[in-house]
Amino acid sequence: MIKAVVDNLKGLWSLVVGLSVTGRFFLSPQKTVHFPRDVVGPEILESFRGPLELVPADDQGGSKCISCQMCARACPGDCITVVKGDAGKAPKEYKYDFTLCCLCAACVESCPAGAIRFSHRVYMVARSREELRLDLLADLRERCGLEPAPAPAPADKTKAVA
Ligand code: SF4
Ligand code: SF4
Repeated sequence: MIKAVVDNLKGLWSLVVGLSVTGRFFLSPQKTVHFPRDVVGPEILESFRGPLELVPADDQGGSKCISCQMCARACPGDCITVVKGDAGKAPKEYKYDFTLCCLCAACVESCPAGAIRFSHRVYMVARSREELRLDLLADLRERCGLEPAPAPAPADKTKAVA
């Protein structure tokens, strides 16, 4: 009889503890948003690591990149391809495969020119893996309000085989 009463009291206490935890979280301020009716504010996105982007050097689509390849060498996922331009140190091609990126920041930390950083694109969507293989020079031009450079035409495999 006494054991049954003690067991019931323990069960009741457990219920009180559980409900107090539920009540505390129920009354605390909401930490999530109802997307798409609401979006996360820029202050929260400061620490968010989205896909890489080039840091603009001017408003003409120029980047700080000096084509040193340090980022590509540091990358454990082989995500980055930088091709130096014909004149000067500026790259003529900067490709980044977001599908392979683990957001480790090795590239950002190894860059001697401060030329790359993580974007805060939290609402980025893609319908195919191809759309996540990014041309960062075109992206930079677009962010500067310029027309992105046309994508290079895919290689004609029929001719290559012939
Ligand atoms: S964040 Fe890491 S995995 Fe992604 S591109 Fe940079 S070095 Fe490579
Ligand atoms: S490490 Fe920096 S400067 Fe060197 S190629 Fe990469 S982005 Fe450009």
